[in-house]
Amino acid sequence: MMRFQVSKPVLAGRERDYVLDAVDSGWISSSGPYIGKFEQAVARVLGVEECIAVSNGTVALHLACMALELKPGQEVIVPSLTYVATANAVAYCGATPVMADCDKTTWNMTAEAVEALITPKTAGVIAVHLYGLPCPIEEIAALCEARGIWLIEDCAESLGATVRGRATGTFGDAATFSFYGNKTISTGEGGMVVMRDPQRRAHARMLRGQGMDPHRRYWHPIIGYNYRLTNVAAAIGYGQIEQVGYHLSERRRIAAAYREGLRLLAVEGLVALPAEVEGLDSSSWLFSMVLRDGGAERRARIMERLELEHGIETRPFFVPMHRLPMYEQPLDLPNTEYLGDHGMNLPTYSGLTDAEVAEISVAVCDVVRAV
Ligand SMILES: *Cc1c(COP(=O)(O)O)cnc(C)c1O
Repeated sequence: MMRFQVSKPVLAGRERDYVLDAVDSGWISSSGPYIGKFEQAVARVLGVEECIAVSNGTVALHLACMALELKPGQEVIVPSLTYVATANAVAYCGATPVMADCDKTTWNMTAEAVEALITPKTAGVIAVHLYGLPCPIEEIAALCEARGIWLIEDCAESLGATVRGRATGTFGDAATFSFYGNKTISTGEGGMVVMRDPQRRAHARMLRGQGMDPHRRYWHPIIGYNYRLTNVAAAIGYGQIEQVGYHLSERRRIAAAYREGLRLLAVEGLVALPAEVEGLDSSSWLFSMVLRDGGAERRARIMERLELEHGIETRPFFVPMHRLPMYEQPLDLPNTEYLGDHGMNLPTYSGLTDAEVAEISVAVCDVVRAV
């Protein structure tokens, strides 16, 4: 019996009231007041002028790439260690994702790795704040500016994370968020786009709504998409974002409890815990750890025992993009490959108590020492 899932949405605020209000009003499709309310609430949290709600985090990335005019044949530098959507958005535009290595301790793409991959074909960079810890976004932004290429921040995992007090999602030409069921706040499926330039922002809004001219009905001067979010999903999102402080403090409390519970395992050198970097405030999306050795097979044995003997669900880190069939390249990305084989995510969701984290930690310590 599974006692602890890795993740689950927690609807502890007024989500139900807002959804019933949306249903009772009849505004269940992609017009209605909750869409604007949700967009404005997220914009306030980030400290940006405006946000654009979309149907999920993947299309948010695609929309951002299109609004930045990514063209077939161009290249975009992405970390190899990320969720597949980061690379897919580039491929949707007919462009090539170029995979960068990451740092072994922060698990994030470095500015040096990006710089080494810039070619005359490079249009931009998609930086990811993996598992909620900000990547060196100031350095990467400075590099992009110096080299005249654009920067998208994939903030799917980093809502609420800050760099010297400034929110992730405010450093690039664009930023994207996901509200999938396992994210810090969820709308079931949903996403958000931030575009710095007001003209590109207007273009992104047009692309979201079938390319229709905002001032002329059924006049579609460009090929657009239906990437809209429904008012019902936005109603959930509005209830969730009102509680974002609660969800973030819960995740940070849980991370602190895991650090305590797994401290000895780390001291013994059997696992590495998420890096703590001066000035960077992680969103603590999913608490994660990296086994020192043994490879993917040992990790699988550990995960299986945690599940079968203790009812604890865990997840392996993402498979590096350069190992997936469609992006397979004979690259030497040693840190990415090591982390891809040795990393795992532990249960992290609002309401998981300190006592439960302590119990999970004891089981993790026992199993890791034994396998
Ligand atoms: C979840 C996630 C996405 C995509 O989000 P969906 O809403 O599932 O489409 C993109 N990038 C990263 C890094 C993610 O974790």
